[in-house]
Amino acid sequence: MSDAITVLNAGSSSIKFSVFAVEDADLRLVYSGQAEGIYTKPRFVAKDQAGEVIDEKQWPDGERLGHEGALDHLVGFLKEHTNQYKPIAIGHRVVHGGVEFTHPERLDAAIVDRLEEFVPLAPLHQPHNLSPIRLLFDLVPDLPQVACFDTAFHAGQPELAQLFAIPKEITDSGVRRYGFHGLSYEYIASVLPKYDPDAASGRAVVLHLGNGASMCAMKAGHSIASTMGFTAVEGLPMGTRCGTIDPGVVLYLIEQRGMDVREVETLIYKESGLLGLSGISSDMRVLQESEDPRAGFAIDYYVYRIGRELGSMAAALGGLDSIVFTAGIGENSDFIRERACRDAAWLGVELDTHANAGGGPRISTPGSGVSVWAIPTNEELMIARHTLRVVTGEPGVNHG
Ligand code: ADP
Repeated sequence: MSDAITVLNAGSSSIKFSVFAVEDADLRLVYSGQAEGIYTKPRFVAKDQAGEVIDEKQWPDGERLGHEGALDHLVGFLKEHTNQYKPIAIGHRVVHGGVEFTHPERLDAAIVDRLEEFVPLAPLHQPHNLSPIRLLFDLVPDLPQVACFDTAFHAGQPELAQLFAIPKEITDSGVRRYGFHGLSYEYIASVLPKYDPDAASGRAVVLHLGNGASMCAMKAGHSIASTMGFTAVEGLPMGTRCGTIDPGVVLYLIEQRGMDVREVETLIYKESGLLGLSGISSDMRVLQESEDPRAGFAIDYYVYRIGRELGSMAAALGGLDSIVFTAGIGENSDFIRERACRDAAWLGVELDTHANAGGGPRISTPGSGVSVWAIPTNEELMIARHTLRVVTGEPGVNHG
C-alpha cells in the first residue's frame, strides 16, 4: 500500500486539493479537484490523474457549505476513494510565514496561533489558509499537518531588497518586503536545471502571471528580489489588484474622498488591475478576445508594467541570462509573452515566434542573448515534496 499526501490550498470561497501517492520517494498525482463557491453556490468536483471526473456534487444555490462543510465533504471523498493508500500527512499552502517561518513547518495549535498573528499582513488569504488546519485537527487528529509558506523562498533576499525606507522601529515590527508566490518560484528553480543548466546557475527572472502576478529575480536558484512586498498587492497590475501605487493615493482617497479602510482595500484588491483598467473583466482570455479599446488599453498597460518591472529585476541581478514565464497567463498566452519579449529586446531577448506560438518550452532563438522559457508551475507538487520531507525527515528536495 503506497503512502499518500493530500495538499490543500484554501481560499475565501474555494478549497483546492490534490492527492499524491508516494512511490519510491517519488510523488505521483492521483486525484485533484476543488470545492468552490462554498458560501454562495457550492460545487465539489474531483478528477483522476487522467482528468476524468470521478466525483461531483452540487448544492442548492444560496446554501452556505462554508469551509467546515467543504472539508467534511472532502474528508468523506478521501476516505471513500483513497483506501488503497495510507494517508501520511496533509500539506497546506499558507501565504504568510512572517519573518519567523522561513521553512515548511509541522503544525500544532500553538504554531497556528502564531500564524494567526500574520492575518493583518495578508487579510484576504491568511485566515482562509488557516481555518481548514484547525478544523482538520478535529476531523483527523492523528494526521500530521504541514504548512508551506509563500513567503519562505524569499527569506534569504539581501536586506537591501527586503526593507522599506522607513524608521527602523517600524521595520522591526515586521513592516518589510516579504515577497509571495514563493512555492511557484521554488518549483521553477527546482526544474530549471533540467531545461537550461546555465540559466539555472545564472541570473534568471521568473514571471508568475496568474490572477495574482509577480516577478522574482533569482541568482543560482535563490531569490534576490521580487516585485511583491509587504502584501500581495505590490508590483505588477493583476486581475483585480492594482500593483504598485503611490501611497499618497491611499491617503488622498481616505482624506479627500472620505473612503474608509475597507473601501480602499476593496478598491486596490478587488476592483483594480485588469478589471479596473478595462471595466470589462479581470480575465486575460476575455480581454484578448475583446474588440473593445479599453481591453486593448488594459493589455498595453499590463505589458508596459511587465517591461518596467523586468528592467528593475534585471538591474537587481546586474544583468540577465534567462526569463521564465509561468502560471495561467505566462504558460498559456503566447500573445502576452510575445509582447513582453519584444519590449525586452534591449536586454538581448530574441523571440522565436514559432516556438512561442507552439508553447515552448524554449521560446527564444538559439542566438538570443537571454534564453526565454515557458514552463508550467506546480505549487501543489512543491507542497507535497516539502510535506513528505517534513514528515519523513528526508533531506531537502527543494532543488531536486
Ligand atoms: P490563479 O492565480 O488564480 O491560480 P491562474 O494561474 O490559473 O490563476 O491564471 C489565471 C489567468 O490566466 C486568467 O487571467 C486567465 O485568463 C489566464 N489564462 C489562462 N489561459 C489563458 C490563455 N490561453 N490565454 C490567455 N490567458 C489565459
